Amino acid sequence: MRKIESISVFDMLKIGVGPSSSHTLGPWRAALRWIDKLKAKNKFDSITDITVELYGSLSLTGKGHATDIAVLLGLEGLDPQRFPIEDIPKVIERIETTKKIQLNSETEIDFDSKSAIVFNKKFKEFHPNGITFRAKLNTGKRTSETYYSIGGGFVVQEERLRSKAKQEKLKEFPFPVQSGKELLAFCNTENLKISEVVMANEQSLASEEEIDFKLKQIWEVMLDSMYTGCHTEGTLPGGLNVRRRAFDTHKTLMGGRQYTTPEEWITAIRSTEVKFRQILKWVSCFALAVNEVNASLGRVVTAPTNGSAGVIPAVMMYYMVIENHDANFNDVKQFMLVAGEIGSLFKKGATISAAMGGCQAEIGVSSAMAAGALTELMGGTPEQVLIASEIAMEHHLGLTCDPIGGLVQIPCIERNAMGAIKAINACEMALDTDSRNAKVPLDKVIETMWQTAKDMNSKYKETSEGGLAVNVALSDC
Ligand code: SF4
Repeated sequence: MRKIESISVFDMLKIGVGPSSSHTLGPWRAALRWIDKLKAKNKFDSITDITVELYGSLSLTGKGHATDIAVLLGLEGLDPQRFPIEDIPKVIERIETTKKIQLNSETEIDFDSKSAIVFNKKFKEFHPNGITFRAKLNTGKRTSETYYSIGGGFVVQEERLRSKAKQEKLKEFPFPVQSGKELLAFCNTENLKISEVVMANEQSLASEEEIDFKLKQIWEVMLDSMYTGCHTEGTLPGGLNVRRRAFDTHKTLMGGRQYTTPEEWITAIRSTEVKFRQILKWVSCFALAVNEVNASLGRVVTAPTNGSAGVIPAVMMYYMVIENHDANFNDVKQFMLVAGEIGSLFKKGATISAAMGGCQAEIGVSSAMAAGALTELMGGTPEQVLIASEIAMEHHLGLTCDPIGGLVQIPCIERNAMGAIKAINACEMALDTDSRNAKVPLDKVIETMWQTAKDMNSKYKETSEGGLAVNVALSDC
């Protein structure tokens, strides 16, 4: 029987820390997983020395993406979902000044991060984002494990991915879906919306209360990141001297309206006058805000990656403050279920890793997720949802990843605004499309994206060795 990977909405939408899901959240989780493994094998208490080797793209853009910091936080056993962001500099300073690390916040060992974290430009064959943890034990033995951060905060090991045990562990959803075509077939035979198919699948993993609780947490973090970004002035860290722009745009758009909470803020925005220009500015402002928070190592929802974390919240917020002033949690829930499912189709059929596919895999996928989700909220049929996702991706095909200075700032932050606007436009075009006239099925665009990813020169796959990253010097910024 054909096994279909069961990817949950909560695999696609994860609360994490900026600036990158593959280069920050993934390595952080890899370190946590390694610590767990050492404990399970009763090796944890014998560790005397640790080194970490970052390979390929993790090495080339790891500094700008805070990969080294993420590894330290993971080795300290800190939770990326809950650890207070404002305490990160204190932890890093302690490790650097004392030259000691508190493994899993339990055992202190000597650790000089300058020499213990090695940036190795060599690419491992299995995936461009490799990371090897090595430890010496007090028995004189050594142990090591290699992990791969494959995008969106997902972490795998080569042997685990291929093992039979892993295959058997895959839980079957009631509606297992590998492609857009299969998703539509379930919608049509069961007479269900896409969100209802996804909800049935999610309920095979958790109760409706648990699902609602987690989706509310996700929306809270999304809303909070928009609110924080719109209310934080200044320059982003990293040396590019990028000024935060959401603050200024937001101030002009709000025109002095008063509020004290994110919820009151939504009500206040609904009372502003919006013509086409203001709508463009609001949507861009929401997206910029999230990615400015992400670029300053803030808390965002990986959707499906951190670099593209602004698109989905911006489009959801557009629906709430522009399209439907009565929108509530049920709309958020429906939106996130559809978005997660579209993202999982790209993960199964192509990639959500910029190191594998360039920026089409990040902003392109997030735009496709948002376009489809908005279309269902706007009353579109399942066919129109997939048409919207297809249109959004079709016009991101070939988009390269070339972040200046290896920082998730230029072109990344603006690119979220563009991805969000394209998603809204794709939705509107899909709503006016009779599915019988659509020429390009979503599955074909996913296949095309994957072929384009494979053909793309490695200079444009999160290495900062081509494009804007080489044509714009840090000293110009
Ligand atoms: S260019 Fe795109 S894929 Fe690359 S880091 Fe920026 S947002 Fe991510």
